[in-house]
Amino acid sequence: MPEFKELSKDVERILYSEEVIETMIRRLGAEITESYREDVKKHKLILIGVLKGSFIFMADLIRHVELPCEVLFLRASSYGGGTFTSGKVNLSMLPEKDVLKDADILLIEDILDSGKTLERLSEVFRDCGAHSVKICTMLDKPARRVAAVQSDFCGFEVEDEFLVGYGLDYNETYRNLPYIGVLKREIYS
Ligand code: IMP
Ligand code: MG
Repeated sequence: MPEFKELSKDVERILYSEEVIETMIRRLGAEITESYREDVKKHKLILIGVLKGSFIFMADLIRHVELPCEVLFLRASSYGGGTFTSGKVNLSMLPEKDVLKDADILLIEDILDSGKTLERLSEVFRDCGAHSVKICTMLDKPARRVAAVQSDFCGFEVEDEFLVGYGLDYNETYRNLPYIGVLKREIYS
């Protein structure tokens, strides 16, 4: 197994190991499977990953959703390279409306923080003609919430610390760490 010595020296402590993340993903996969088991008989299930942060979570999660489903990605960004959202959410790669018609949409995000990204996405998907729109986030950081958004499926609730790894970045780095860790303050302050 790779040791990630170079990147790990910037990590204060490991919050969730690979094993703990895997257990969480199995649980979420089972919850999602159970929740949509009847609906998939009538509606197309579409899992939409919010890039870039969700790409590893999404790849692992879909292998525990034991239902027929489609996979899409869209791109959202709001950070200008810091640890606070700029508040302005840029969206791209949005799916065509006819693809979403009458479907059950599940948005998959890495972390719900201020809530601005998912608030913006909820607005965009509100009138898209879908049968339902729900949210699954790997992590939920309620301390910094400013928008009234909740996740329907959530991996772990976390404290107000800046986290990296397993898809989460600081300045586009650390996404490839196999665990979720707390970034040392000296790296970003
Ligand atoms: P929100 O719009 O403030 O809810 O922020 C959502 C986005 O902020 C996430 O998709 C992440 O890309 C980023 N983010 C929030 N908290 C963290 C963190 O602790 N580490 C890395 N990225 C974060
Ligand atoms: Mg990010």
